[in-house]
Amino acid sequence: MAATLYIVATPIGNLEDITYRAVRILGEVDLIAAEDTRHSLKLLNHFNISKPLTSYFDHNQQFKGERILNALRQGKSVALISDAGTPCISDPGYNLVRDAVAEGIPVVPLPGACAAIAALSGSGLPSDNFTFAGFPPARQGKRRAFLADLARLPGTLVLYEAPHRLEETLRDIHETLGDRQVVVARELSKIYEEFIRGAVSGVMPAVAEGKARGEIVILIAPGEVVPEQPEALDTLLQRLLDEEGLSVKDAARKASLITGSSRNEAYSEALKLRNDAEKA
Ligand code: SAM
Repeated sequence: MAATLYIVATPIGNLEDITYRAVRILGEVDLIAAEDTRHSLKLLNHFNISKPLTSYFDHNQQFKGERILNALRQGKSVALISDAGTPCISDPGYNLVRDAVAEGIPVVPLPGACAAIAALSGSGLPSDNFTFAGFPPARQGKRRAFLADLARLPGTLVLYEAPHRLEETLRDIHETLGDRQVVVARELSKIYEEFIRGAVSGVMPAVAEGKARGEIVILIAPGEVVPEQPEALDTLLQRLLDEEGLSVKDAARKASLITGSSRNEAYSEALKLRNDAEKA
């Protein structure tokens, strides 16, 4: 195998969700870089894969990244895995992939389990347009600002959340985005897999009763799109005359282009405004 960095998705719960290709590549590479080697050893043992393992997690990304890059530079093949799901998706890996790409080392992603995508596909919420925004900040102020930034996006919002923060995050969603439809997808591909669906106000009591434990994805339906009111002809003309200092003729031409009103109508309105202003 030539020097290649494989980004290998592993199951998010159910071990049957590994792909044939992932098992083959993990068995063929020279080195496996794992977020937590002890955790990944269980998965590798399950599939009878015995390969040199090195850890690669946030705190030592810099150092281990260099070591992994060196192995790749020497022509070795490396598979990057995380504790669950797809590496780089709210998991370490981005820096390594970026550096490998910068050095011209081939990077090959092996598609597979990802909690965000599994949750979205089973949610029943619009999936043609969505935004995955990862974990919301832990502190309330920052979390509300984070949600407010997402408020006007047109598609479904997909978030990861820790179970002990779910209640407060739903409360902030309610406060910031209103009573939108949400889906709390928990324990995907595991025994207690569950989708809790409804308006945020309806889902909050179930969560407060402690019914949503385990690993969780929150999906938020798009808000209603409130069309922006076009600026009325007279307000627009007033602004063009007063603030932009345009002549009656130029203001009328610009306003008719913006509003679609006829040039004559815009001209008479602009003239009237200018005359009124001169009389005042
Ligand atoms: N890289 C992973 C992926 O591809 O989904 C995500 C890793 S991130 C550190 C872990 C978060 O993903 C959890 O806190 C939870 O929000 C979500 N998650 C992972 N497994 C899940 C599952 N089986 N069911 C629901 N959410 C899950």
